[in-house]
Amino acid sequence: MIPGARLILLGRQGAGKGTQCVRLSRHFVVPHISTGDMLRAAVREGTPLGTMAKEVMDAGGLVGDEIMVGIVAERLAKPDAVGRGYILDGFPRTVPQANGLDDITADRPIDAVLDLDVPRELVLQRISARRVCRDCGTNYVAGGVDKEPWICDVCGGDVTQRDDDTPEAVSRRLDLYEEQTAPLIEYYERQGRLIVVDGVASTDEVFRRLTAAVSYTHLTLPTSYSVEISVVAVP
Ligand code: ADP
Repeated sequence: MIPGARLILLGRQGAGKGTQCVRLSRHFVVPHISTGDMLRAAVREGTPLGTMAKEVMDAGGLVGDEIMVGIVAERLAKPDAVGRGYILDGFPRTVPQANGLDDITADRPIDAVLDLDVPRELVLQRISARRVCRDCGTNYVAGGVDKEPWICDVCGGDVTQRDDDTPEAVSRRLDLYEEQTAPLIEYYERQGRLIVVDGVASTDEVFRRLTAAVSYTHLTLPTSYSVEISVVAVP
């Protein structure tokens, strides 16, 4: 049997979290839980949450902690996440969210927190070229002569630039990342769960580094999480 895993992937916007989470979720056979995707689905469905979230998201802000912790608690209680684990993408994003997650996962703690490290200048370039399928969320890179209309290879949906990938919203999100999310690196370092992975490499190489980092955790910390780990570019 393929062992499951309970993982968090941290990293700046455009670090490649979405792409790597899809691959990690297939590799460990666990659900990929992206709070951004959940909010975008709520926006598409026009639910009260979606209506509230759209305004915040388009401005590059953050949806309230209590709401986010509630959404994630509900999702992690579903049988697939309870039985096999999950990979969390985009959550937690603030220290109060991390505290909320500690409470939710008290019985089944997180195995590892992976910080996909890519410098700000590089993610800015990547985000300006990022295109996303409006229906299934698959990421693409624009370059040269783009197809118009651009149809998703996976589901046939429209591939466009995200509404919140404007230069102003991106810059606000990156600032918020430094203020609100970067402190989580220290938070998880103190808990001995953090593994820093250098994300400046090909998609395949970054995936190899991430899976190596998780195996390392499983091998060295089967029962205890008290040891501090910080590995840059797992060999
Ligand atoms: P990005 O990492 O590029 O900002 P996401 O898809 O993870 O993209 O999130 C898109 C938007 O959804 C965020 O800018 C924010 O407004 C909202 N969002 C997603 N996750 C959270 C969260 N954990 N807490 C608060 N807001 C969130």
